[in-house]
Amino acid sequence: MITVDLDAEFFWLSLDPGAVNRPKTLSNGQYGMKRGLSRVLQVLDDSKIKATFFVPGRIAEVYPQQVQEVAGRGHEIGHHGYAHENFALLSKEQQMDALRKGIDALQKVCGVRPAGFRAPEGDITHDTTALLQECGFRYSSTLNGADLPYFLALDGTPTDIVELCGTWELTDLPYFAFNFKPAFPSGQCRIANYSSVLSIWKDEFDAFYDMGLNYNIKFDPQAIGTPGRIPMLEGLLEYIKSRKDVWFCTGSEMADFWRSTQSMRQASSAR
Ligand SMILES: [Zn+2]
Repeated sequence: MITVDLDAEFFWLSLDPGAVNRPKTLSNGQYGMKRGLSRVLQVLDDSKIKATFFVPGRIAEVYPQQVQEVAGRGHEIGHHGYAHENFALLSKEQQMDALRKGIDALQKVCGVRPAGFRAPEGDITHDTTALLQECGFRYSSTLNGADLPYFLALDGTPTDIVELCGTWELTDLPYFAFNFKPAFPSGQCRIANYSSVLSIWKDEFDAFYDMGLNYNIKFDPQAIGTPGRIPMLEGLLEYIKSRKDVWFCTGSEMADFWRSTQSMRQASSAR
């Protein structure tokens, strides 16, 4: 799964609302929408790969043309909060409000109701799964606790929502995002070596491939979309495509596939 989060300036605003008065900080994120996104879309088109883009509702409202362009090229649009808010800091009612406003904005701008949800950078609470169920989400791609899909549980009982886990090492922002205030990373001193990061992504792919797992990598155009880093995306996709029997799929396709394998398993064990 190739996934792209369109956080833009809301990444920085969710870390520090005071960033609204700091144009340079905001410009880190705006770069992703102004310059990085078109390069990412071109690489995906050239590779004939459909990705899943997780989009905050505010991004769809502020950058409607770019988000329509993503949807128009056949990529899946998933929910990524309304204003990229950290769900762990919200009450149950506030989380529901962000979910509803995000769904409405994506429907209005792209005409699609998102089937998938990815929590913005922070975290979720124990209420979030019930809210996702209430909103009719089919899958989530938020947690880090597995490398194969599984059904999220509610009060110990599995729901129908498939969780498609990721990992921080398969995420570009922790390696490359940098800002002084708010400080990111907070201890400073990190813009990682590009070759080393690409090598990590390839090594991880080799292991996932050998073990038959779900490789779910996460990009943000503000990090991967720079002139020096876009070749990393090209190199990684080329590398993955060189291996036999790899299935590139969207989040919805993976969730549906997982659901079908589980019902097949249940049917064969009942026989
Ligand atoms: Zn995000």
